[in-house]
Amino acid sequence: MPRLLFTCDVECHDPRRPENWLLGRTVDGSWLEWVARELQKRRIEGVFFVDFIGCEKWPKTLDRVLDILTECGQRVELHIHPSNAQQCQKKRLNELSQEWQATLFAEAIENYIRFIGKEPHCFRAGAYGLNRQTLALLSEYKLADSSYYPGKPQVEVTLPDYTEFQVAVWPITTLFLPFLHKHVKHDLNILPRSVLANQILANDVMFFLHSFSFNRFQGRVLTSEVNQRVVRRMNTILRAIDEGVVSPVRLDDFTGYLQTTGISLFDACTTVLYCFLRSHLGLLE
Ligand SMILES: [Zn+2]
Repeated sequence: MPRLLFTCDVECHDPRRPENWLLGRTVDGSWLEWVARELQKRRIEGVFFVDFIGCEKWPKTLDRVLDILTECGQRVELHIHPSNAQQCQKKRLNELSQEWQATLFAEAIENYIRFIGKEPHCFRAGAYGLNRQTLALLSEYKLADSSYYPGKPQVEVTLPDYTEFQVAVWPITTLFLPFLHKHVKHDLNILPRSVLANQILANDVMFFLHSFSFNRFQGRVLTSEVNQRVVRRMNTILRAIDEGVVSPVRLDDFTGYLQTTGISLFDACTTVLYCFLRSHLGLLE
């Protein structure tokens, strides 16, 4: 039976709206809480990569996020978005010097320990930007990594680099789109429902969502409106689990390099068309 690992990145990119971003707050309540409770009901342990940079700007919201995740038996790990640090304009760790990266790791880990009370075990880089200097820091802090995104230009490391630095890695499972020569992840906000469903029924998948996945964007502003299209997608995944055709796993059990076996012509066409409509014409959210 194909295995499924739930991962969710929890982050804020607008200090005026921390509840929308971090809690997925909408007119219908917190969608982060909804997801955590749906996973808890099914005894699933998802991995929530929480950005611990800049959290002094939204301490109450972060407290609430961590209360929900702890209460629902979810796993909290470390995420870093450099753009949330003071005086840092860069989006990715691999754009920063080793000193800058070291400062950010020290700050994020200190915050993690202060909020969670223990050390993190696993890391995901914001926007998947990492290089060998990042691996040196992961090795120093004995952190495993879940940022390796095959085919992404900002991933400046290879699997042998992980071996050299003795950093354990959970690579991101991707779909290779033959016409675009592009790799995409199994993300609730990226792939159409039919493709997501076909993929999780056929392959081991590291599944992606964000704390704000269910909020609708208006331009670049995250609103309090619900994106029903994304809710329907999530319900499709949950139904597959309930029907026993997909088996959710814990991070510790999800080992090895899990690359999907391939994509059907129909799914490839659907995905290319969907991505084109979304990014070029703004027809879909
Ligand atoms: Zn992120």
